Amino acid sequence: MPIPPSHHSVRLLRCNSVTSILRLVAEGVSKVLGVKGRAVELRMKNLPRNVYALHLLGTNIIVLNEEALHRLSEELSGDRALINSYTYFILLHEYLHLLGIVDEAQVYKYAYKICKELLGRYHPATLLSMHGPPAPPPRALKSLLKMQMLFHL
Ligand SMILES: [Zn+2]
Repeated sequence: MPIPPSHHSVRLLRCNSVTSILRLVAEGVSKVLGVKGRAVELRMKNLPRNVYALHLLGTNIIVLNEEALHRLSEELSGDRALINSYTYFILLHEYLHLLGIVDEAQVYKYAYKICKELLGRYHPATLLSMHGPPAPPPRALKSLLKMQMLFHL
């Protein structure tokens, strides 16, 4: 059976901006955790190289590392499906912090639940949330996917 166009994963694949991915994240969190959506202020800054994003505690601000996001596209060879998956993973993580979940392991637990339910068990974003903390780097994504495929042969 083909995946319907309304499916979360199809919609994620079609996103062409960070803002549209964030909208999908907020919708997904509300759907799975049953919490009300929160307004988010996105800011772009240059942060340390290994930091993709951060949430300023006690605010509704998520800061994204502009330079790292550019690099992400190169590291994932411009593959839209992987870039959007990684961006979803990052934004979901920070959004969960923004909702008041401070503990890293707890954030990963919720992220995994949300990704698994909405995107499917073998989706790249699900695999990422399964393999942290700490967050697997983008270059790990391809090998995680390969491992997953070998595992299911
Ligand atoms: Zn965190």
